[in-house]
Amino acid sequence: MKTLRICHLYGNLLNTYGDNGNLLMLQYHAKQAGYRVETDLVSLGDDFKADDYDIVFIGGGQDYEQGIIARDIGRLKDELARYIESDGVLLAICGGFQFLGQYYMTAEGQKIECLGIFPHKTERQEGTRFIGDIEIYDEVNQVTYYGFENHNGVTTLGPNQAPLGRVVTGHGNNGQDKTEGMHYRNTYGSYFHGPLLVRNEGLAKHLVALAIANHEAKKASKA
Ligand code: GLN
Repeated sequence: MKTLRICHLYGNLLNTYGDNGNLLMLQYHAKQAGYRVETDLVSLGDDFKADDYDIVFIGGGQDYEQGIIARDIGRLKDELARYIESDGVLLAICGGFQFLGQYYMTAEGQKIECLGIFPHKTERQEGTRFIGDIEIYDEVNQVTYYGFENHNGVTTLGPNQAPLGRVVTGHGNNGQDKTEGMHYRNTYGSYFHGPLLVRNEGLAKHLVALAIANHEAKKASKA
């Protein structure tokens, strides 16, 4: 039987607010499309070869866990950057999304160096968090996404960085410029919990369809 492989990056540390539900949705839709799914948890010190995977998923986490991961994640930069540039499917939620950018300032003011693959930067806010229901509109695909956000981080995208959508209600990346998340090739970053793919099934199906197309193209090129 055909098999799709999912990498759950730092899944034992980044797993807040039911973010693992995103994996269940990816697994479910891959099975509906006739694929068996293998999911590997890749964490501190584990080997990571991006080419082994059809989907990479990174969830959200608390500042404490983010501080631990910060000491390990740098070694994955080249593999992940290559994977992203070759249209690999990657979903990064909240803390995972912050890690794709330049740095993250924790609520207590500790600077966490991130992967630096994308230009976004995440500052802190004093004594409050962005918490609540959120709705955004993806103008490119003309879809509305629904979710729940809970973050201290205040993220600013780079000048040419595209958001996942425009905030309709809620705070989004920074509560100011109406951007939420990021989208580049087949990489999606978002602050949405809920989890994102359970509340927005069309996006789950889309990510699985992209992963299957990549998988089959890779197989055909090897044949
Ligand atoms: N600790 C980060 C913040 O508060 C990320 C939160 C999360 O991943 N849910 O911004």
